[in-house]
Amino acid sequence: MTHAPTPPLRLAIDTDALAGNWRWLNDQSGVADAGAAIKANAYGVGAAIAAPALRDAGARQFYLAHWGEVADILPHIPASEIAVLHGACHHEEASFARAHGVFPVVNSLAQAKIWVESGGGPCHLMVDTGINRIGLSVHECGAEIIRCLDVDMLMSHLASADEDSAMNAQQLRRFHDAAGQIAHKRLSLANSAGIMLGAEYHFAATRPGLSLYGGIARPEMAPHIAQVVYPESAVLQKRRIEAGESVGYNATFTARAPMDIAVINLGYADGFLRSRGHGAHVTYGDAKLPILGRVSMDMIVIDITAAPFIKEGDWVQIPFNLLEIAAQSGLSQYELLTSLGLRFARDVKSG
Ligand SMILES: *Cc1c(COP(=O)(O)O)cnc(C)c1O
Repeated sequence: MTHAPTPPLRLAIDTDALAGNWRWLNDQSGVADAGAAIKANAYGVGAAIAAPALRDAGARQFYLAHWGEVADILPHIPASEIAVLHGACHHEEASFARAHGVFPVVNSLAQAKIWVESGGGPCHLMVDTGINRIGLSVHECGAEIIRCLDVDMLMSHLASADEDSAMNAQQLRRFHDAAGQIAHKRLSLANSAGIMLGAEYHFAATRPGLSLYGGIARPEMAPHIAQVVYPESAVLQKRRIEAGESVGYNATFTARAPMDIAVINLGYADGFLRSRGHGAHVTYGDAKLPILGRVSMDMIVIDITAAPFIKEGDWVQIPFNLLEIAAQSGLSQYELLTSLGLRFARDVKSG
């Protein structure tokens, strides 16, 4: 089969901005080394582009959620710098980890047992200090099986680092308590937002994700974090409609006067959810082109009055300032990134 034609929707990934965001977060991490969370296809940005760019910027510790994410990363990152956050839940996962030299993050007594039984070796260990999601409970830290582990990084995860919550200091105290009980080489607590909580939260390693990719985890980051992802979509068809004609499913938009409209190759299957359509626009150069009617699975209709000469095949820009789009749509910045669909071509942004 010949190659598939170029997709009519694409993400331009600004790898200079990505590297700059990492460097800024690494600076803000003080004496700690910033790593990079690249789970979920690097938050939708595309791990094949993001992982090497972050490595070249200087990141030396990478976090995935699942074992299934490892294969795409191994060509770019040394196995010993990859941590799988969900840990080895059965022997098949433990032998995969050992075969490749990837580090599991042990999250429970059961996972500790599986890792030790499978032959063990260096691993990371997550303690739960209050998010009550995954991780060893603080009262389990003294367990016999935990003493059998060769813990490189002892870590915990903050629940409310993006808020000025008393919970942050409480989690910090519990983390110190755990660190006093478990032998380890390094400590790590902070995600993107946690980095901004100050030096006490930095330890040896920080674990930014969202803000690498342009997310503003806390307001004080906004002047320093640059947009990384620029989505674009090609015009599929143009048409002229008369006054009184409606657009899209359930006819939620009706033209008051004759108007020129266009259909673009983007829909909720690409992550542009229906909740993002209302009152939103795309752009073509300086022209703002309002979205009309419902977002469909694969198509969105736009008003091209402000760019009447736009042609089929021309590319329109999809606004993706994460803070603004999150406020407008009610979706989180994390959701906006990770829902970017697989139909987008992902390319390094030029110029
Ligand atoms: C996803 C994740 C991170 C990154 O968090 P951000 O809020 O995206 O910076 C850090 N640590 C753990 C354990 C994670 O699961």
